[in-house]
Amino acid sequence: MDGATGEAGVPVDVLVIGGGPAGTTAATFLARRGWTVTLLEKAAHPRFHIGESLLPMNLPILQRLGVLEQVKAIGVHKPGADFPMRGDSDSVNVFRFDRALDPQFGYAYWVKRAEFDELLFANAVASGVDARQQVKVERIDFAGDGRPARVHARDADGHALAFRPRYLVDASGRDTFLGNTLKLKKKNPAHQSAAIFSHFRGVTRRAGEEAGNITVERFAHGWMWLIRCAGT
Ligand SMILES: Cc1cc2nc3c(=O)[nH]c(=O)nc-3n(C[C@H](O)[C@H](O)[C@H](O)COP(=O)(O)OP(=O)(O)OC[C@H]3O[C@@H](n4cnc5c(N)ncnc54)[C@H](O)[C@@H]3O)c2cc1C
Repeated sequence: MDGATGEAGVPVDVLVIGGGPAGTTAATFLARRGWTVTLLEKAAHPRFHIGESLLPMNLPILQRLGVLEQVKAIGVHKPGADFPMRGDSDSVNVFRFDRALDPQFGYAYWVKRAEFDELLFANAVASGVDARQQVKVERIDFAGDGRPARVHARDADGHALAFRPRYLVDASGRDTFLGNTLKLKKKNPAHQSAAIFSHFRGVTRRAGEEAGNITVERFAHGWMWLIRCAGT
């Protein structure tokens, strides 16, 4: 029987759940260190994801990953953040990233996550990660000492897969796979907040390079930010 479908499971050094930025980054660096790394992503890239505005300190990581030029090619240049003065829409405090303490990069990018995550996934594959799409992790068997002994997954054709990792990285994002499995999540009654997002056309921007700035606005019940997307 194929080890990947057998109950015993395929031995790997590291199994990563999730092929977003966290999972692909961890998997890439581990594979480059010589570990055998399998990454399982339940979706198929390119896929929509929210969370498109990068910050300057993301860029040294992208540089180490070797994808900075590719990100530059798909990104919108973002030199800083605008904080409009309350009650005075003509006055804006500008925080330029190149005026940060010890800026390694004085700018950042907005990216379409579908493109960004897809290129990070391809980079993981090119770095030696056994990265698989449309494979959903379903269940973990824990050993008596509490360590994850076996990880069960299912591919798009309904085939059951099993792995025996020495280490498990949960990078499942908001799915919080391990948090749910181990029932670790607790509501914080003092932090009853929610986030909503939408994409708009025809938004008036500031002139010149400042047009790429994020705008951060406060209002009575919270705050919002407005980020320039490509071509709009
Ligand atoms: C409204 C909103 C706005 C945001 N804006 C920003 C922003 O501007 N800038 C920013 O940096 N961040 C932003 N974020 C946060 C950002 O979305 C996350 O921090 C980021 O996506 C986390 O990356 P990740 O790799 O940890 O998880 P994800 O990107 O969520 O990736 C997790 C992956 O795991 C996969 N997965 C989940 N469960 C399983 C499973 N069982 N088996 C296999 N695969 C699985 C998912 O399909 C997914 O591809 C925003 C969040 C919200 C809610």
